[in-house]
Amino acid sequence: MRAHALTLNAGSSSVKFGLFAIGAAEPEPRAAGVVEQIGGAPQMRARFAGESDEVRRVLPQDAGRDHRAALDTVLALLGERLGDGHIAVVGHRIVHGGPDHAEPVVLTPAIIAALARLVPFAPLHQPHNLAGVEAATTAFPGAPQIACFDTAFHRRHAFVHDAFGLPRAFYDKGLRRYGFHGLSYDFIQSALARDEPALNAGRMVVAHLGNGASMCGMVGGESVSSTMGFSPLDGLPMGTRCGQIDPGVLLYLMTEEGMDAAALADLLYNRSGLLGLSGISNDMRRLEASDAPEAAEAIAYFTTRIRREVAALVADLGGIDGLVFTGGIGENSAHVRAMVCEGLGWTRIILDEEANRRGDRTISREDSPVRVLVLPTDEEIVIARAAARFAP
Ligand code: ADP
Repeated sequence: MRAHALTLNAGSSSVKFGLFAIGAAEPEPRAAGVVEQIGGAPQMRARFAGESDEVRRVLPQDAGRDHRAALDTVLALLGERLGDGHIAVVGHRIVHGGPDHAEPVVLTPAIIAALARLVPFAPLHQPHNLAGVEAATTAFPGAPQIACFDTAFHRRHAFVHDAFGLPRAFYDKGLRRYGFHGLSYDFIQSALARDEPALNAGRMVVAHLGNGASMCGMVGGESVSSTMGFSPLDGLPMGTRCGQIDPGVLLYLMTEEGMDAAALADLLYNRSGLLGLSGISNDMRRLEASDAPEAAEAIAYFTTRIRREVAALVADLGGIDGLVFTGGIGENSAHVRAMVCEGLGWTRIILDEEANRRGDRTISREDSPVRVLVLPTDEEIVIARAAARFAP
């Protein structure tokens, strides 16, 4: 009976899943999919290896509208397709490991309780991640449930890149610059270690530009600093999140506009960033296709902040040998990549415009002292690799 790892990434309104055959050195992708619009009219899309057609299912109206119902639908599909295979282990993306958790761990009741205490650190993500754990534990009581933390890749930052300029007691309570997107950076770093050892040994800036966006500075494959901080709000502007903001703005919104924590969270997480600036969309494709000046201004704000943060990371690293673009925007938008690189000539990046337009793997010119790469990320395989190590 072939053993499989199931990977789960449970967000507020979606559950992404991956199915991998394990046993060989590298997990083998068998299927990937997502249940979207949980809480509304949930639908599932899935694709199986070697099949061109997508499987689509609408969850029945009378199904529960929660993560458990979403997982039941995924399980029903996998049950039909697994044949004599079985789920030996389940890997979960957990947004926050706090100060104490970095390496992947088995989700025992004690660990789950510790992660639940971190909910105030990531109130919009952690509860959904843990709901996925609960649902999967019920569904697969015999399979180890493994936590893979989005903060893990950054846990060895020096104090100066881990602290805020607040009284020390807050640092001790866990108010630190954790950084996120760690599974994506882990994937990119291991790809560099395999394919570009010289770059991996050097000073790299990796730009994960998707709906969520952040950048990480690495030396010798280790994270030195990241644009995201205590929460996934800091650093770059994103699809709907504000990015770096003067804390005085928040004080003003509280005192003068009467906003409470819930109103601020909604503003900063859901109504800001590319969507808020453009008033059109959080989707980069729509902004690039729009003639509205607000769309162009939103893209200009996004790319300007990326360039500023590259400069900050270059200062942290003491220079730059390579820049990697990844994530939905980084992998697909030649326009954004060109706007970022055009303003970075001072780092000695020389962009190959044709290669950039084509979306080649290397988009810097051969005579560019700094290499610029476009690498597709794969967070699911990072979870599957970690989970496979725990399979009985
Ligand atoms: P998430 O953070 O939700 O995983 P993704 O990494 O899938 O997001 O990135 C989504 C973003 O990528 C959206 O803004 C989308 O418009 C953008 N994107 C995807 N394809 C293209 C493209 N061909 N050109 C420009 N932007 C693109």
